[in-house]
Formats: sequence, C-alpha cells, structure tokens
Amino acid sequence: MPKITEEVYYIPGQDEFMPDAHVYVVGNPSSQNLSLIDAGFVGKGSYKIQSIQKASIELSAIKTIIMTHTHLDHIGCLAEISKQIPWAELWVHHLEADLLEQGDERGVYGMDMFRGLCQSQFGLKPGAFKFQVNRKLQGGETLELGGTVWEVIHIPGHSMGSIGLYHRSLKILIPGDVVYADYAIGRFDLYGAEASQLKKSLVRLGELEVDILLPGHNQIVKSLPKGYILKTAMQWETYLK
Ligand SMILES: [Zn+2]
Ligand SMILES: [Zn+2]
Repeated sequence: MPKITEEVYYIPGQDEFMPDAHVYVVGNPSSQNLSLIDAGFVGKGSYKIQSIQKASIELSAIKTIIMTHTHLDHIGCLAEISKQIPWAELWVHHLEADLLEQGDERGVYGMDMFRGLCQSQFGLKPGAFKFQVNRKLQGGETLELGGTVWEVIHIPGHSMGSIGLYHRSLKILIPGDVVYADYAIGRFDLYGAEASQLKKSLVRLGELEVDILLPGHNQIVKSLPKGYILKTAMQWETYLK
C-alpha cells in the first residue's frame, strides 16, 4: 500500500472486466481515527483489507468510510469491507444517501442495461445496495479526519451527489470520478449525470490550487501542472453544454 504523504495511503484498484476504484486511506496513522475514501467493485474488498493489514494498520483504527459517489465500481464491495469493520460509519452526500437508504439502485448502476448485466454476471440481488448512512454530507463541511483537515466540495455532473475532498494546505484533491489524469473526465451519460453541471464542477475545482491529484481510477498525479483542471474543462467544453 503506497504512501502518498504521511497522512494519505493509496490502495490501487484492481481492474478486471470492470473497473475497480482506488481506495485512499486518510488520516495520521497514530490518530487511530482513519477514513477510507471509497470501497471498490464487487469482490474487490478482501485484498484491500489485506493491504491495510500488511501496512501494519489495525482495522480498529478505521472509523469512517466516505464515498466520493455511489457508482457500482466504488460501492460494489462496501458490504464486504463493512463486514470486516462493522463499526465504521458511512458518510455519503445526501442526494445519493437518500437513494441508498430507500434501496433505489439507479444511482449505483447508472443505467438499466448495466443493472441487468451486473446482476446476472455477479449474482447481485435487487436490494443489494440498501445502506443506512450515518452522516449525510451537503458540501461545504470541513472534516477533521485523524489529525488532517479536508473540505467537502459538492461537484455534481458525473453523478448527482459526487463530492471532492480537498486538503488546502497540502494541496491534495480527491475528486472521485470527476477529473482524472491525462485530461480525462468522468462520463456524463448515466442516471443523475448532467453535462452542464459537470462543467461547473470542473471550473470550481479549477479554482483550487492542486499539487496532488488522487482520482478514482487510472494514474495518480503527484505534481499536477498549474491550471491542469481548468485546461481539462476547456478541452471538454463543447461536449459539456
Ligand atoms: Zn463514477
Ligand atoms: Zn469510478
């Protein structure tokens, strides 16, 4: 489990037929108050738990699981992980938290065709993604996570309740699936997505000073060029009307 800074560890996703989201472990290890950011795809929980244990982090130190959003490649193995750390609270933006609590899985699968495919392929039953959410985020909160401070930014567009987590002094951004390395952005054709909102969210993130970009998939970037996110937004502008 590579260390990015003293307070952020990284568990790379293991993509196979389907993408598996990266998980970030946030907080000072000595605080005994760590948070996982996202979980990953169906069946991709146990290796992540093992990675944490191999890094000599006690599972009892993990107190919270925060979702950047609730697509299947991020929430698929949440139940698997929660079983190992049943005390951990689940924090989700309220727009997607409400869906999870109602057992409305449109926000998980994104489209009907994908739901049918995944349910038959991975033996998922309807109702597999009904969760109680301990804290519903709004955006604008400042979270104290194990001795580190993160701002919650609501960045809809890829999904309605996508959030970014921003560490202002270390200039670290965890944007979920909103923006990636290589000038890529999240798709905006799934349930709850909206191209014009994605554009606004990118512009909003573009106003932040970011040195370290820790997206939900693909490469992480440790020295992000200045203006990278705004440039990305501009490259996609014609598609984001
Ligand atoms: Zn997504
Ligand atoms: Zn994703």
